[in-house]
Amino acid sequence: MKHVQLHDKRFKLSIPSEHIQGAISAMGAQLSKDLEGDTPLFLGVLNGCFRLAGDLLANYDGPCDVTFVKVASYEGTRSTGEVKRIIGLDVPVKGRTVVVMEDIVDTGHTIEQILYDLEGRGAEKILIATLLFKPKAYKGHVPMDYGALEIPNDFVVGYGMDYDGLGRNLNDIYVLDEDHHMKNIILFGPPGAGKGTQSALLTERFEMVHLSTGDIFRANIKGETELGQLAKGYMDKGELVPDDVTIRMLEAEVLKHPEAKGFIFDGFPRTPAQAQALDVFLESKGTHIHQMIALEVEEEELVQRLLERGKDSGRADDADESVIRNRIRVYEEQTAIVAEHYDAQDRFTAVDGIGSIEEINERLAKIIA
Ligand code: AMP
Repeated sequence: MKHVQLHDKRFKLSIPSEHIQGAISAMGAQLSKDLEGDTPLFLGVLNGCFRLAGDLLANYDGPCDVTFVKVASYEGTRSTGEVKRIIGLDVPVKGRTVVVMEDIVDTGHTIEQILYDLEGRGAEKILIATLLFKPKAYKGHVPMDYGALEIPNDFVVGYGMDYDGLGRNLNDIYVLDEDHHMKNIILFGPPGAGKGTQSALLTERFEMVHLSTGDIFRANIKGETELGQLAKGYMDKGELVPDDVTIRMLEAEVLKHPEAKGFIFDGFPRTPAQAQALDVFLESKGTHIHQMIALEVEEEELVQRLLERGKDSGRADDADESVIRNRIRVYEEQTAIVAEHYDAQDRFTAVDGIGSIEEINERLAKIIA
């Protein structure tokens, strides 16, 4: 099996060049047929599309214009999130058929913003021609008009796509060789489900790094840092610390462990925004969440466990039953939904959280192994 090494990561062959060329030639033939009599504008989104553009156009028969753009990101408002706009478009698109050429459509965020931009400029018909499409990652609404190859939700390089700048020149497409890389697990579940206890055992067994946002906040409170002071007000009431603060803190903690073989995230992500931020952050590091494992325990058992723990944990939020119940309510109202995020990616497993510590540990270890 063919492998390439790019920076610190090893990638294995996923789609050989002949297969890519076959798919592009079929896409070119279909476009030539569908757009007969029209003079479309082929618009490539740099940098990733440069290989696809060359080969697709070589397989397109009719007259056409060709241009290339880049996409720039801006901070939008809270409700719009990150906004992307086309830059460098030097050809009028008003009233024309535009074929947008993309190397890969992942979440769909970029392509939807490109379509919105082109519609605003008066394009009459907009078609998407993408070499790769990740149906499991896609959150957009528009269909892929010409999607050559569907792939799983894995990190790929080659044929225009890069890992931190390298790999665009490769003729084949490669996927991250997971056997050689880290495994990242989210241990999920309500307060008192046993996440902390189980994480400690699992990190020993699998040589992973345990990151508990609750523990990091408590260390900051103890150290009387500014972050600790901010977090304390929320924690004492059993409320969530705001997303922006928590996300920044978590990312900084991950960066402190460049040699880690994997992470067990405990207590994070607790909101859909945190989950999205974690996905984007891990992707930028060439990795992702491999599995979210949820420990299932019913409410009365949770309350009893936390009251018991409160007798000697010294945690203010374990001492008061009304704070405990509020934490469970916050979990149900704001956090439980995060499971759907990973379920939609086929990366979610629920485990019975009742039993001895060792029994539950075996259940978890089996899934991780
Ligand atoms: P834990 O130790 O996981 O039970 O967390 C204790 C408290 O820390 C929570 O009740 C929250 O106030 C805060 N906290 C921990 N993790 C997060 C997070 N991911 N997002 C927001 N707040 C958090």
